[in-house]
Amino acid sequence: MYTTNIQGAEELDKRYLARCIRKLKEWGAPLDHWECIDVIDVREDDEDGTLSECELCGCANVRYEHVMIHELYFETVTVGCICAGIMEGDILRAKERERRMRNRAKRKKSFIAKKWSQPEWDTYRRQHRGHEIMILQNPESYAVYVDGQVHLTYKGEVIRDFLSAAYRAFELTDPVKEVLTI
Ligand SMILES: [Zn+2]
Repeated sequence: MYTTNIQGAEELDKRYLARCIRKLKEWGAPLDHWECIDVIDVREDDEDGTLSECELCGCANVRYEHVMIHELYFETVTVGCICAGIMEGDILRAKERERRMRNRAKRKKSFIAKKWSQPEWDTYRRQHRGHEIMILQNPESYAVYVDGQVHLTYKGEVIRDFLSAAYRAFELTDPVKEVLTI
């Protein structure tokens, strides 16, 4: 039985686990040794944003999408926390990743709420996790400097408002890839 190979699976609903394993088999997908390559907070910039659906169990209340990859499978699979744990063979590890994402979301909230120092009318400064951040307001856009390096886009778009500039600064100084290194 697979439960013996999955760390922290003792408390799982056996029918749920069996359904997940059956689904992987239907897909012709590997049953274990998946790796999480990214976690996406679907409510990162919008607290009322639509939640996501787990591709493995169909649960529709997923806020943190764990993106799973396997060298023997042709595409990534996006799932919730527990399904991610099943796929990688370690529920505790997936839960720890989820916990870190929740903490990061809290840090982002307080980061956005905190006041910036404003030495000039067009210049905003702040430190976060040891990084020096400066946001410069140009006539039609914002430039974000982190440790002296300039960044002009957020999610692929030119930064047009201060909030997007602050989001970009947070992303650069508190990256999801740090959450992934468990
Ligand atoms: Zn699921």
